[in-house]
Amino acid sequence: MLNLVLFGPPGAGKGTQSEKLIAKYRLVHLSTGDLLRSEIQAGTELGLRAKTLMDQGILVPDEVVIGMIDNKLRENQSAAGFIFDGFPRTVPQAQALDELLQQYNTQITVMVALVVDEEELTKRLLLRGQTSGRSDDQNEDLIRRRVKEYKDKTTPVANYYESQGKYKAVKGIGEIEEIFQTICEKIETAAANVR
Ligand code: AMP
Repeated sequence: MLNLVLFGPPGAGKGTQSEKLIAKYRLVHLSTGDLLRSEIQAGTELGLRAKTLMDQGILVPDEVVIGMIDNKLRENQSAAGFIFDGFPRTVPQAQALDELLQQYNTQITVMVALVVDEEELTKRLLLRGQTSGRSDDQNEDLIRRRVKEYKDKTTPVANYYESQGKYKAVKGIGEIEEIFQTICEKIETAAANVR
């Protein structure tokens, strides 16, 4: 199984690169942001509670996202692998993911982090906000808060994977295709080492 954590601040290009990776490696895409937005759209209680936090750029509680991932892993047991997008964002989430994958005798192959500086991120997100309809992409203060939240909470997650020898940084600025090729190289090197 190929299990990839795609990491990067909001606006780093995770969505674009995910689509290409899914097509190439036939992975099931698990984005906690997308899952939460579907809950909001469906008007569930979970969605309502999450929306209040998401509107402020604050992370939703670990047990909420871990529960959603647990369900999705159970529903997709015959998958060739998974791409985790926007998850894990905290060390407890990363630990829970390791434990969940162990239940299926598998593990994370590699964590690829897209690295983009804050000014470029803000520019990209404001642009996306003009067409995406996402209210959290239309306010510069909120964008900066999300980027800060990412840095504060998520840097320890990078260290967590680094300590397992699974962290690979990729520069997220440049041609989409070039970035994609670099990611594929990192994945294939890691997959040869982790089975
Ligand atoms: P995203 O689409 O990944 O940018 O996520 C949008 C919002 O959903 C974030 O600002 C958080 O409020 C929430 N969210 C998404 N994924 C997670 C996660 N793994 N842990 C906690 N909150 C999350």
